[in-house]
Amino acid sequence: MPPTALQCKECGSRYGLDARYVCEQCFGPLEVAYEAPQADAAELRRKIQAGSSGIWRYADFLPFSERPKDPLEPGLTPLVKADQLAERLGIGELWIKNDAANPTHSFKDRVVAVAAAKAQELGFETLACASTGNLANAVAAHAAARGLESYVFVPADLEEQKLLATGVYGTRLVGIRGNYDDVNRLCTQLCEERPWAFVNVNLRPYYAEGSKTLAYETVEQLGWTLPDRVVVPIASGSLFTKIGRGFTEWLELGLVEGELPTFNGAQAEGCSPVATAYQEGWEVCKPQRPDTIAKSLAIGNPADGPYALELARRTGGTIEAVTDDEIRAAIRLLAETTGIFTETAGGVTIATLAKLAERGDIDPSERVVAYITGEGLKTLDATRDGFVMHEIDPTVEALDAEFATATSAVAAH
Ligand SMILES: *Cc1c(COP(=O)(O)O)cnc(C)c1O
Ligand SMILES: [Zn+2]
Repeated sequence: MPPTALQCKECGSRYGLDARYVCEQCFGPLEVAYEAPQADAAELRRKIQAGSSGIWRYADFLPFSERPKDPLEPGLTPLVKADQLAERLGIGELWIKNDAANPTHSFKDRVVAVAAAKAQELGFETLACASTGNLANAVAAHAAARGLESYVFVPADLEEQKLLATGVYGTRLVGIRGNYDDVNRLCTQLCEERPWAFVNVNLRPYYAEGSKTLAYETVEQLGWTLPDRVVVPIASGSLFTKIGRGFTEWLELGLVEGELPTFNGAQAEGCSPVATAYQEGWEVCKPQRPDTIAKSLAIGNPADGPYALELARRTGGTIEAVTDDEIRAAIRLLAETTGIFTETAGGVTIATLAKLAERGDIDPSERVVAYITGEGLKTLDATRDGFVMHEIDPTVEALDAEFATATSAVAAH
């Protein structure tokens, strides 16, 4: 499926495949357009299955004429059946797509892999980004692996774990005194003045394509079938809409049959411009000032908000908001029932799933996929005070005294 142009999502104007992201006619966002593939569904499927064990097995659906080199190869993360969690929530069939199992432990490796490959193809020597945390990790790592220079811009008050997991790659880490929307404004300005590839500004149309691979993997891992419902966290709304795009492309190409799943979006109450617009029946989002522990989702002015709203409404879905306490509880619920430790964004997703189940929105016959997009070790503060450590002297007696019930089990032996 060779890429043919960058096309305006609003007016359809077409541009060359270079580093640009806004339409000169109407200021709408640009998206990669593709030519219909020559191969039929069986041939496409065969090529995928013979491909690499990462996102590049889907190279035919990504914006390159030839499969680019990738030193990190993200993707093909586990899709695990979560029976204990399903039972706890009263859901018939539940799957967790664990995208924390990527090279820098979030789904951002997918989008950066695509943007970084495009940046190098276009001749850029410096990779950059405006980040809420995970993107910083991924840009710093992929730049290092490719031998590119990098600058990453983040709000200065980010979680310490995310700052450390970025700085280690030898990037130029810049903490901005302000929130993500301030960071993004500065980066948009820098984009005009510096010859840098900002993965989520001037390379955004390519970056966004990387998220489609989450939809492709889900279909493949479910034996070339679709889920009935997906629960996906929303920051800018790019991931949410591109998972929709991925399913739609494969439906149109006959790689999978059925209909588009119901799309439920997940936001934190402390930064919920898309959930608020959904509730109010608006078609666009009103910007908010973020205040939540889910910092990776803290975008107050989401670029793809209107498209996320459209997708949720078109598929009979919703966009929900959950509180910080619900996020903390959901992180523990997921860990205790699946062995998967997620960051606050995953807490937002699981809290939303719980809310939908509790409200009776999920039919027992449905097959549900929840997307876990990041790793718990990056937001350790969210788990503090959630449990006690039993501190004892190094003797059997001390252990028995601490857990009085353990004694009878030993005696019976
Ligand atoms: C960036 C991010 C998202 C979603 O980002 P979008 O801007 O909506 O594409 C979700 N989860 C995590 C952990 C992230 O870092
Ligand atoms: Zn346009």
